[in-house]
Amino acid sequence: MNIDLLVKKQQDFFATGQTRALPFRIAQLRKLEQLLRQNEAQLYEAIDQDFKRSDYLTYITELSIIYHEIKTMIAKLPRWAKPKRVPTNLANMPGTSYIIPEPYGSALIIGTWNYPYQLSLMPAIAAIAAGNTVIIKPSELTPRVATVLADLINNNFESDFFHVVNGGVETVTELLKQRFNKIFFTGSTAIGKIVMRAAAEHLTSVTLELGGKSPVVVWKDAPLEITARRIAWGKLMNAGQTCVAPDYLLVHHELYEPLLAALKQEFATILGDDLSNNELFPRIINQRHLERLKRLIEPEKVYYGGVVDEVERIISPTIMVDVAATDPVMQEEIFGPILPVIKIENETEAVAWIRQYPQPLSFYLFTKDKRLIKYFNSTISYGGATINDTIMHLCNNNLPFGGVQDSGLGNYHGKFGFDTFSHFKSVQEKVLWFDPPLKYLPITDWKRKLARLLME
Ligand code: NAD
Repeated sequence: MNIDLLVKKQQDFFATGQTRALPFRIAQLRKLEQLLRQNEAQLYEAIDQDFKRSDYLTYITELSIIYHEIKTMIAKLPRWAKPKRVPTNLANMPGTSYIIPEPYGSALIIGTWNYPYQLSLMPAIAAIAAGNTVIIKPSELTPRVATVLADLINNNFESDFFHVVNGGVETVTELLKQRFNKIFFTGSTAIGKIVMRAAAEHLTSVTLELGGKSPVVVWKDAPLEITARRIAWGKLMNAGQTCVAPDYLLVHHELYEPLLAALKQEFATILGDDLSNNELFPRIINQRHLERLKRLIEPEKVYYGGVVDEVERIISPTIMVDVAATDPVMQEEIFGPILPVIKIENETEAVAWIRQYPQPLSFYLFTKDKRLIKYFNSTISYGGATINDTIMHLCNNNLPFGGVQDSGLGNYHGKFGFDTFSHFKSVQEKVLWFDPPLKYLPITDWKRKLARLLME
């Protein structure tokens, strides 16, 4: 469909006010949930074709989170969408003051490929809950998923309310010329800048969900087995192609050797004998990313793994040691199953490592020491953290999910998603039967005195 026309139709539909009605929003969310549930098999098949991903992994990392979000939105929407009374200041008394959440209007959501259902639909759910019209542009790197999403949504929703547009850079560029009221982008920091520049042209509100190098600090008191298991799980899930995956480890020198051995053990256990049929471990998304990852592996620094299967597009889970900040693996977000492990002497050294890079999307710390937790929380800037596990903060929708500066702008999930797609309109209602002369001419001495008393 012609993009100008599609956006115009969505803007016209928004102007009718239909999306503002709560029953409409709730009905659309229910319909979306039903469609996904009825077509789960098709969703699993599409992603398996795109990068050989297991149903189980897709369910726990995408569909379960989507269903939970829809449930939360439907349950909480009536409360969140209500105008909220706030106190009135002295200068406006007598009067009432309140904040009305209102939808921005037409929203554009640009998704990426690593969790292609979740990263397109979670923002869409928030946008619909807040009363917007929605266009999704899924990633072209998962073409079957993009097709299935377009089939499901475009055949079941009116295009003037909710539509999927498929395509690559040209299509996004065309979309970004339009005057949307909200743009929500997930992807790399470099493309995030392009999106933000385009949004600036229309002063469109923008949310950016980007990436970065998410560190894990392991302290000397961390219990070895569970720490290694939780790090290995977070790193290897989706073959390391996770925005919040542990990128590199900073390990207290007393635990360094034992942790390396425990990680090796955990990697081997998770992987089993047949990597090509592993339920946690899909393929590297394409040849370009495989080549990029290959370049990051320096054979003399490999402690474990390092085997590349070009035909199957598999990089065997790899642990690297003795890495320097100038090594290729420490110069970019890894986004694959390669884990550099660095020995540190103390917390100051850990902070110095982390501060060499822009603020990460996530931060992980393994310790029982409350003082240390407080120290890192107040010293390091990051999007979100899990203490004593990896990744898990992402699935708690009572917590805002997003980055800071290079790792993102704004956040979503649960109420935070509703807020992200809403403008908060403030209203001061005043009475007509009382009009103190304080603000009118002539300005006399008693008015000056009273102003000081009432206004501050
Ligand atoms: P990307 O930035 O290349 O692509 C994302 C989207 O941008 C796609 O839909 C693509 O079509 C579009 N795009 C590509 N080039 C464009 C251009 N020149 N102009 C306009 N749009 C363009 O994504 P990627 O690099 O493959 O994704 C990986 C990155 O995404 C990693 O950095 C990862 O950390 C990050 N990520 C972040 C989150 C999060 O929630 N914060 C989630 C997943 C991935």
